Amino acid sequence: MNHIRRLAAALLLFALASPATAPAADGPLFDAHVHYRPAMMASISPAEAGRSLAEAGIDGALILASEATTFRRLDAASAARLVPFLDISRRLGRKTDWMHVEGVAERAREWLEAGEGVDWAGIGELHIRAGDRFAPAFEALLHLAAERDLVVMIHGDPAVIDHAYTVAPAVRILWAHAGTYPYPPLLDDYLRRYPNLVADLSMRNPTLTDADGRLEEAWFELLTRHPDRFLVGVDTFSVNRWTEYGDIVTATRTWLADLPPEVGEALARENAARLFPE
Ligand SMILES: [Zn+2]
Repeated sequence: MNHIRRLAAALLLFALASPATAPAADGPLFDAHVHYRPAMMASISPAEAGRSLAEAGIDGALILASEATTFRRLDAASAARLVPFLDISRRLGRKTDWMHVEGVAERAREWLEAGEGVDWAGIGELHIRAGDRFAPAFEALLHLAAERDLVVMIHGDPAVIDHAYTVAPAVRILWAHAGTYPYPPLLDDYLRRYPNLVADLSMRNPTLTDADGRLEEAWFELLTRHPDRFLVGVDTFSVNRWTEYGDIVTATRTWLADLPPEVGEALARENAARLFPE
């Protein structure tokens, strides 16, 4: 009997010590990695995409759009606050070798200035391999972004980030998927070195969590050490990702709830609000 009472007391203590469900677990979220392309529109209409965001509790999203018209149509069909990024490489139809197209930076400047009813807040997603990091077009785009205070989303190796900050120390970079080698010690090092670097955790739910979907210790430590440097996201790189959208957001909310509430809130929406003020 005694041991049952002790067990009950221990369970009660455990329940009291567990934090209340963090708002990040069920409150509104900002999704920092949403692709929406003309080719997707036939399968996922702007209304359907807007509904997917709303049903998942997304009240803000970073939209990577190659065309102003695509962005405007999604924006009109969505209740969420959408932050537009000009997807230059997709506009050129050159996902990985865009930096070798003649006059990329000049064309990007024209597109940004033309606007077509969109006030672009950033450039990307730019896929770039380490071997392409010295391409003059990449360097010119970094200068353009720094000059216009635009955020550049880079999908690439650590060497690309190092070179970017050698070329344009003031540029604001959003490192897609927390880089190609998402190891907490490496990220800790890069975040300390480059104060204008932030990272999104899209595609990384399996990396961040154990088999039960709970946050791994090393990631808990990294995220609590740098609570203002990370954003969450889904990455709707395909129509299939739109179909799974709600499930991916639910998995993200599960590990967000493992963080101290104020850290969860920062990742869920506050960091995005600071980076992209209304
Ligand atoms: Zn992406």
